[in-house]
Amino acid sequence: MTEAEASVISCEKTKNGWEVILDRTIFYPEGGGQPSDRGYIGDIFVKDVHERNGLIVHYCDGEPECGRKVRLRIDSERRFDHMQQHSGEHIVSGMLCSAFSCDNVGFHMGEDVVTIDYNAAVSREELSSIEERANRYIWEDHECVITFPDEQERKALSYRSKKEIDGELRIVSFPGADTCACCGTHVRRSGEVGLVKFVSLEGFHGGSRIGLLCGKRAFEYLSSNAYQNDLIARDMSASSLRTYELYLKQKDELSRLRGELSAMEEKYLSLYTESFMGRSDAVLFEEGLSNDSLRKTALALSGAVTGSCAVFTPEGDGFRYAVKLRCEAPEKVIKEMNAALRGRGGGRDGFAQGSVCAPQDEIISFLKSTGIFSEIQR
Ligand SMILES: [Zn+2]
Repeated sequence: MTEAEASVISCEKTKNGWEVILDRTIFYPEGGGQPSDRGYIGDIFVKDVHERNGLIVHYCDGEPECGRKVRLRIDSERRFDHMQQHSGEHIVSGMLCSAFSCDNVGFHMGEDVVTIDYNAAVSREELSSIEERANRYIWEDHECVITFPDEQERKALSYRSKKEIDGELRIVSFPGADTCACCGTHVRRSGEVGLVKFVSLEGFHGGSRIGLLCGKRAFEYLSSNAYQNDLIARDMSASSLRTYELYLKQKDELSRLRGELSAMEEKYLSLYTESFMGRSDAVLFEEGLSNDSLRKTALALSGAVTGSCAVFTPEGDGFRYAVKLRCEAPEKVIKEMNAALRGRGGGRDGFAQGSVCAPQDEIISFLKSTGIFSEIQR
């Protein structure tokens, strides 16, 4: 039911809004890992529903009139989503727990992904076979059967349950897939689940944590993945089934090019720094150096000159720098530079890397004022 009539029995103002109790309700209170329903009592929004001392309490934004008959409406799209995720989880858990003789030891229905924890290690291949069986079961459109067995019937029944249950027992069964004690909301037939898709698998306390999507969520997830993959395939002018293969090729190519670039950079640096050999110090302004290249250039220069060196590369309103100082208290000089040129950064043993927010002229004036540098190249 997504709509019904009920009478307001009590309504109490609390610091979180109004707590409303009805003579009957279609709102599902949070429980069994499933979030509560949201919806309306008359035109008043119901934001949360909990069970408290056997009563179902509706947490509302406003105050419905006590004693009045009111129309109840739940957010049916949200409810159906929960039914799809939860029922899919039943089918998967039933199959998984019987195949691996394990238990479902945790369940969380998040806003985007449902995670389930099992106390057995499951491989990706094993999971794929469960996924295939679960989807087949969904397409076969089995009925979801709900029963309330008495004491006698219970003894003959084998079912999954997280805890010992006193009093009335509600058994939810997807025949041939799962039998479980459950208070949650379920679809009428397995076909309504539509689709199950495992989206993640990780080890968790010696067992497995599985990310699962069902129904509309699975469809949306697969749609956005297919779209991403199609964009990549188009850009590579390739079949969408070959993107991973091409990605691996490009990754190899990239790593080879990085190696070549690095070798060329080193060769270039050694030739370049040769021209500084024997000088007392050096200051360079070079465009387009990465942090790694900045560091390498400063160290190579430092090997050529007898004193200090500093390398700057422009970025935004300022420069990134790498310096290697051979002077008294180099850390103090770096601190002073950062303070004077609105910069940040540091290092050790006279070497420092960072950035300053100042134009080239101001940097040169500062370096001259230190008395460490005599030769400054632009
Ligand atoms: Zn259930």
